[in-house]
Amino acid sequence: MTRRLSDLAPAGCSDHLSPMDQLPPGVNPKVLRDELAAAAEWAARYLSELAEEPVSRPMPATQRDRLRDARLGREGVELGRVLDFVREEIAPFPTGNGHPAFFAWVNSPPAPAGIIAELLACAVNATCGMGDNALMDLERGTVRMLAGLAGLPDTTGGVLTSGGSMANLLALATARTWFLTRRGSGDGAAYDRDHARLTLYYSAQAHMSVAKAAACIGLPAHRLRPVPADAHDRLDPAALRAAVTADLDAGLLPFCVVTTLGTTATGAVDPLEPVTALCRRTGMWHHADGAWGGLGATVPALAPLYRGVGAVDSLTVDPHKTLSVPVGCGALLVPDPEHLHTAFAHRASYLTAGEDDALPWLSHATIELTRPGTRALALWATLSHLGQAGVTALIEHYLTLADELRRRIAAQPGMELLAGGPWPVACFRVTRPAGEDPDEFHARIARRVQSRGRAYLATVAVHGRTVLRACLCNYRTTTDDLDLLISEVLHAAALDEPPHPGR
Ligand SMILES: *Cc1c(COP(=O)(O)O)cnc(C)c1O
Repeated sequence: MTRRLSDLAPAGCSDHLSPMDQLPPGVNPKVLRDELAAAAEWAARYLSELAEEPVSRPMPATQRDRLRDARLGREGVELGRVLDFVREEIAPFPTGNGHPAFFAWVNSPPAPAGIIAELLACAVNATCGMGDNALMDLERGTVRMLAGLAGLPDTTGGVLTSGGSMANLLALATARTWFLTRRGSGDGAAYDRDHARLTLYYSAQAHMSVAKAAACIGLPAHRLRPVPADAHDRLDPAALRAAVTADLDAGLLPFCVVTTLGTTATGAVDPLEPVTALCRRTGMWHHADGAWGGLGATVPALAPLYRGVGAVDSLTVDPHKTLSVPVGCGALLVPDPEHLHTAFAHRASYLTAGEDDALPWLSHATIELTRPGTRALALWATLSHLGQAGVTALIEHYLTLADELRRRIAAQPGMELLAGGPWPVACFRVTRPAGEDPDEFHARIARRVQSRGRAYLATVAVHGRTVLRACLCNYRTTTDDLDLLISEVLHAAALDEPPHPGR
């Protein structure tokens, strides 16, 4: 195996390659320092210049092929090639969610504190699944910080996850085990009999990850009850009660209700207290999916909607949404963490040394064993940098911008604002040319705005129709970006108008 000379002995370098770095991937310490510094320099410049670049650009087919058909060379390349590769091949083609004029989905830019923390956590490289290390304790601490912000009790434990989808999956698996264990049907013939009758409830506005999680734990589609939402896109407790009653009468086993705090389409918050009351009465688990809106209790204007949040059985929060923690950080919070352990603690002879019974390893509270410490450190760093007041101010900033955007849309001739909120999203329509299919028209506007690259928004189905959707979750977005978005949408829509006579 040949070593890159530049990895071993940079010009003018007095450091020697230590014996432990003789084999790749080891490099000379000076080379590592220089490359880390160059990467940090590049990242800082990239972030500061991002707003001047297009939000996104179409990926040329040759570029796509180059990445998809990448082949591993026989000999390794020098370390410096990593930064060149990112600069030339990766950074020019982002999703766009770092850019202040990106309004699609709920994808934030990365918080500076989170970026630094990710790098540092990689250097420490602890696994937050087993053994004894500071990052696993920090994960326990950050979970409790989130619980405090969300309004959950001090007893709350939980785990960080890759995102909201994984947190919802853990929640449903936990609810299922809790329900069956209490009935004495955790195994055997009782399991066979009862598992087939488990029935799950959520509003028709719930995120698709809920139905996906249900499929993963073995619930067939005909045991899922997407209950119709009310006129404001919230779960309707009366419709929920009726569905549960009908299923009980039919001999089924209602085991869990999922409420949504901040629905993806329109930002609605489901009623919490009536659902908890129904769950207590009928022996169901109440999981709240707050991937987007789980921290609403920290905001005085939203807090009344979160009354009773402390009584849910589990809560999903996605710090990579509202808090701008770099992507890959969700959380499942469980007021009684014993339920997580009942669902996920599995023992093995090769995994016993050093575990303290009073402090179970985090692998006993989730599916993963070897788990990254980047989530805990990036979340801790982002939260610490913000402080409690900063978390509230950040969410309030999004709410204010969304109000501004809604006001501008409502005042704009040719645009119609649809219901939305309280979470910061605006769904709207544009007056279409006569005869044009409205769904196709709005899909085309979104595509045109996206491909022009000055702003970026998406579409969503609201009450059965495809409309435009703009979501506020970028701390760098200003009212100028709102004006830009509106003018880009109007420009894209005008391309469909018949030309003026004489033009
Ligand atoms: C985004 C979202 C999810 C999924 O979270 P990921 O982090 O994308 O996996 C689930 N539920 C709701 C309400 C969401 O907004």
